[in-house]
Amino acid sequence: MNMLERISCVVFEDIELKPPRTKKARGDLWINIENPRKTRECSHTLMKGYGDSAVLVLGYDCMSTTEITHALMHALGFPDEVTLPSRDNFVRIMWNNIQPKYRPLFWAQNTKGNQRNALKDYDPMSIMHFHDRAYTINGGPTIVPLNPSIVLKPPSGLSELDRSNIYKAFRHECNKRKVNNLIEHCRIDYVDEYDDYDHEDHDVTPL
Ligand SMILES: [Zn+2]
Repeated sequence: MNMLERISCVVFEDIELKPPRTKKARGDLWINIENPRKTRECSHTLMKGYGDSAVLVLGYDCMSTTEITHALMHALGFPDEVTLPSRDNFVRIMWNNIQPKYRPLFWAQNTKGNQRNALKDYDPMSIMHFHDRAYTINGGPTIVPLNPSIVLKPPSGLSELDRSNIYKAFRHECNKRKVNNLIEHCRIDYVDEYDDYDHEDHDVTPL
């Protein structure tokens, strides 16, 4: 969370109780991080919780910084890289090597449904990318790059493109907050200056 906050204006706040839905709170997302079924594996889908909340399951085998960041990126709206509509231009999915129950994780997204993801550049270095043998049933690769010089390995952190995509996704919100902060600072400065002003010497008495 600290890492994502450092590179964007996303703010994670720890709350004990979900605040009541108010006009001001609209647009915020409440993330419940839990593991109710005591699973070991990493989850790549975000479950809808009550109201406007999302449930993020972190399995026991998903406790590395990279995997937690990957899961938090899902909560921020970023999909698994291998589901991007453009992925077939870069990799081949080896369907017969994937455990059947995990095959839906490799389904490409519908380009009509999500214009943002349809236009997103495919990034083999992304933290949202699976490694080349993810969910293998026989030890063989499940994702093979079309360009043999590309090596798909578990990501060590956010790629340059990940950082750029986070910046782009929240740019308008960041700018809005900067403007609001500026207005607030100006207002406080103005009130302070007005308070320091000697009103008695400058009051104009009406005739
Ligand atoms: Zn994922």
